[in-house]
Amino acid sequence: MRAKNNNQAYTSSINELFALLHIYTKQRINIQKCNTLLLHFYYIRRCFMRKAVFLDRDGTINVEKNYIYDVEDWEWIPDSIKAIKILNQKGFLVFVITNQSGVARGLYSESHVITLHEFINRELERQGAKIDEFYYCPHHPDFTGECDCRKPKTGMVMNAQEKYNLNLKKSYVIGDKLCDIKTGISAGATPILVRTGYGENTLLHIKKSKDMFMSQTVVVAKSLYEATKTIVNGGLG
Ligand SMILES: [Mg+2]
Ligand SMILES: [Zn+2]
Repeated sequence: MRAKNNNQAYTSSINELFALLHIYTKQRINIQKCNTLLLHFYYIRRCFMRKAVFLDRDGTINVEKNYIYDVEDWEWIPDSIKAIKILNQKGFLVFVITNQSGVARGLYSESHVITLHEFINRELERQGAKIDEFYYCPHHPDFTGECDCRKPKTGMVMNAQEKYNLNLKKSYVIGDKLCDIKTGISAGATPILVRTGYGENTLLHIKKSKDMFMSQTVVVAKSLYEATKTIVNGGLG
């Protein structure tokens, strides 16, 4: 908790310095010096950037059951908790990014989503693991119009990037659907497709589509736990 707060404080103070320097630069006060300073700060900021793993929720962490909002329906995919704990221990920030169009469809409310996420973190905490933050998109274009956060759009990733000063090139997006993989690619992170949930279908779809870029870019893992082992041991990206 403390480390996270320190990191946020550091990020905001550096951001403030940037804003000041930009003002100085615009006012043409010793422009050469300001530009050099800016370069230094960019470098320092990059050094302090954190790496993250963005996890899809349904079909990646838990068994896919279509529009889950009740704690009673929550079922962990084996070793998901272990995987999240490993990522925590290896210094990754761990985020959930989940499309929850059930809210837009009126199937459940945002408070259901929040309650479920609190439950997940309580379960994780009991085993010494945690999700650093949950991001969800409650929209659907047919019901609420377009938004910036519904995957494959990168809104949720970018919100985390801004708040936590993330190095997306050293980060991963793990999920079971094409939208997860596309989000990872668009954000400049390494996408990993898990074969749980809709993963097998997604893999079949990628193979059939003969999309060379997609099939060469996507890393495939049996499960979240296997994906985690690949990240930690294989040095992906
Ligand atoms: Mg999914
Ligand atoms: Zn959205």
